Amino acid sequence: MNWTTHYKKAVTFSYDDGVTPDLKLLEIFNKYGIKCTFNLNYGLGPSKGGWEYMGKPVNRLDLSEHVKAYEGHEIAAHALTHPDLTKLPLEEARREMAEDKEGLAKLFGKCPVGMAYPFGTFNDEVVSMLDELGFKYARTVWSSHNFDAQSDLLRFRPTCHHDDEKLFELAEEFLAMEPEEPKIFYIWGHSYEFEGNDNWDRIEKLCQMLAGRDDIFYGTNEEVLL
Ligand SMILES: [Zn+2]
Repeated sequence: MNWTTHYKKAVTFSYDDGVTPDLKLLEIFNKYGIKCTFNLNYGLGPSKGGWEYMGKPVNRLDLSEHVKAYEGHEIAAHALTHPDLTKLPLEEARREMAEDKEGLAKLFGKCPVGMAYPFGTFNDEVVSMLDELGFKYARTVWSSHNFDAQSDLLRFRPTCHHDDEKLFELAEEFLAMEPEEPKIFYIWGHSYEFEGNDNWDRIEKLCQMLAGRDDIFYGTNEEVLL
């Protein structure tokens, strides 16, 4: 955590799946100077089919056409084809992670050091396998509702999801804090949720609240956690 020499507070975001509304989310983050980590499935794209969320279609991006769009943010792994890693034979799960990492490294020109668990599921075997593959952090979907630094980075708990009812309360609390120890506000989600729930105003409002403070470091997950 290099930022801690100059700051005591950091904000970071984490968004999954590489879907088309990522492009709009990137515009918002870029407008406010906020940094995000995008967890991507190298083996999936628009040709593999989409799905529906709240009655609205969700489509994946052809990542090879959008390398530039993600510039300035971190690319992390999310498994090659988004399986539940705990339901695969371990060797198959290892292949899913190794090939995602390798493909993303080739496409984006930098080796991913982090990942988010597809479906949020993991077990001790999966955690050890990620460690062996060189992953430095892995995000779960369990909200901590706090800002404390964590030591078990392969079972990292985000502060909250962007639809959490406590989101703005947590943001107010974070902004008001004058901590002695480093504190991290970590928000995660999927950009298609803003589309489906018709609540893009929520992320605009959050970015507006958090951005432009000289006592806050804005970094990717890698920059903030490692
Ligand atoms: Zn996912």
